Amino acid sequence: MWKSKPHNRARFLRGPLVSMSLVFPFSAALGTGDPPCPFESVTERIFVIVGSDHRRCPRQSVNYPLTNPAAIIGETGVILIDPGSSLQAGRLVLERLQTITDKPVIAVFNSHIHGLYWLGNQAIGEAYPEVPIYAHERMIARINQGEGDFWVKAITGDHDGETTRFILPDHPLLGGETLTLAGIDVKVHHFGHGHTDHDLVLEVPSERAVFLGGLVVEPEVPSQGVPSDADFEGQIAATREAIALDADTFIPGRGHPAGDALPERALAFLTALYDGTAAGYDAGLTDFEVTQELKEELADYQAWYDFDQLGGVVSQMYLQVERDQF
Ligand SMILES: [Zn+2]
Repeated sequence: MWKSKPHNRARFLRGPLVSMSLVFPFSAALGTGDPPCPFESVTERIFVIVGSDHRRCPRQSVNYPLTNPAAIIGETGVILIDPGSSLQAGRLVLERLQTITDKPVIAVFNSHIHGLYWLGNQAIGEAYPEVPIYAHERMIARINQGEGDFWVKAITGDHDGETTRFILPDHPLLGGETLTLAGIDVKVHHFGHGHTDHDLVLEVPSERAVFLGGLVVEPEVPSQGVPSDADFEGQIAATREAIALDADTFIPGRGHPAGDALPERALAFLTALYDGTAAGYDAGLTDFEVTQELKEELADYQAWYDFDQLGGVVSQMYLQVERDQF
């Protein structure tokens, strides 16, 4: 069995998402004189800001991204994916973009509704009022039903500075589309209800790269932020489908891009959690007892972020195992 390596990076994202607008101290590794949260080169045309790398990007979700804003530099323009958590984070993404290209942003993709990923739309719309914003149609429907306001409050509600507003994606997708943007083909996949009911996975065949959105965040407890949004059997199946795409590079929603060992590790943990929960349910344990057992059985993963929050995910898995009995 694969074993997680212990690491010394600072823990982050403790507690519920609503606490993340608090200002945390900068990590010790900052202060080298380089601007925080730079774009890192991933493939020839793909660049990513690794928002969870707190050696280079402060963990303060209003001013800095916590997820992975990404840029695909096309022939005639830039495609942005998940431009971050707020107006301020989105502006930072655009500033950093200028250090790698002078091409304009010609399209934005939002992988899913969790606010850390897409509230930066506002900054992109400010700079490029005509830019098309692509998302799954279900994400757009949910924003319209009130979740846009929820996420603005949850992430930026305590912020005293300029107010973030949510900007609705205006180009609905379903999965199965291939778009050619700035000379780059982007294949849009939706593998059913997984991390949410509308996850988009984006494949860029010319770069042999796949953007996983919230489906894979690693090293981190899967779907810990909003367990009730996930269908865990679906997330396992969708992760398998994403791994099966023909790619050399996988860009997770959070964490460092890597080869297929990355989604394989996330899948192994997710599967062990789900199977362990199902076995505990069958043995007549309560969800609390299952959580206690799994914290011991899966101690190899205890260095993963939010391991102490395992209970929320196990409780939701337990409900889904129970539901599937009938
Ligand atoms: Zn998410």
